Amino acid sequence: MWPRWPGSPVSDPIQAIVVASANGRVGLPAATEILAAGGSATDAVIAATRLVEADPGDRSVGYAGLPNILGEVELDASIMEGRGLRAGAVGGLQGYQDAIDLARAVMDRLPHAFVAGDGTRRLAQELGYDGRDLLDPETERIWREGLSSEGITDGVADGSARSLDQVMQMVTRLSADPERTHEMYGLGETPDEPPHGTVNVLARDRQGNMASAVSTSGWAWKYPGRLGDSPVIGAGNYCDNRWGAAACTGRGEMAFRCATAHSVVMFLRFGYTLEDAVTQALRDMEALDDPFASEVNIVALAADGTHFAGSTVENRTYVWQSPGMTEPDERPRRVVPLTFQPGRSV
Ligand code: ASP
Repeated sequence: MWPRWPGSPVSDPIQAIVVASANGRVGLPAATEILAAGGSATDAVIAATRLVEADPGDRSVGYAGLPNILGEVELDASIMEGRGLRAGAVGGLQGYQDAIDLARAVMDRLPHAFVAGDGTRRLAQELGYDGRDLLDPETERIWREGLSSEGITDGVADGSARSLDQVMQMVTRLSADPERTHEMYGLGETPDEPPHGTVNVLARDRQGNMASAVSTSGWAWKYPGRLGDSPVIGAGNYCDNRWGAAACTGRGEMAFRCATAHSVVMFLRFGYTLEDAVTQALRDMEALDDPFASEVNIVALAADGTHFAGSTVENRTYVWQSPGMTEPDERPRRVVPLTFQPGRSV
């Protein structure tokens, strides 16, 4: 028996809430204000995500996000609504910081769910967004230093070198040595934020509708055109009013291959507790045969408003806020360490 779609106005309002990855903190007060005024979960997650995209201090999302191996910032984003399973996504957006707005435009204005590459730029132009060079000087410095610290100097910036080996080199480095990666991202000495990143924002509004937004510049020094889990509905983002919402950060290829966000919501559907749903979705990654296996993080919000987050590594947190709270509350994530067994399949 399936639960009814929540969503009709109710006289006794449901408690609204917004939950995010730790770097979403900057956006939570704005999202909470929207929810407190009776606004929609969709408007709330978009408002919070926009603020992270505009923040030059966040090198993993929007403006000043770290670029691909050629020095081009390529943004991925997705939005999903829990009522009616509406969704929109953009992948490989260059020259505009408004990835989450464009994902929403795909959902609201096109008969599609996913636009990638040149079409994203066209969409931004047609909708009148202002173009912007997304590579700020500090980010460019980090990108160049990362290349030269790996001995990659010739022909990358002008695109004349073969990128294949160089991407292998950088990805090997990023996966194998999180602390060094953290340093390369210019994040300082305390790794309380992932050394790469994405923002996840999940909300439930007073009508009981849910929405989830994910935005990222993806893995730094990635192969041009590489798409991670963030814009892929089911991988990095999934939302269904009946059971809940989940979103991921970390090495996108892992969440991609395990359909992780969708798994969390399906585990809820089949009766798992929220804690068990997140834990099982992380454990599912043990089946991956992957020399680059590294960190994955999940935030989840159940349809009843309870929230929980997990990570494959220690010291990761998430944030949440509800109307009536003056600032976000930060919580630790459950650590689910993974033991990879190459060659094993489930
Ligand atoms: N999940 C993102 C990606 O793979 C990156 C991250 O969250 O670190 O593109």
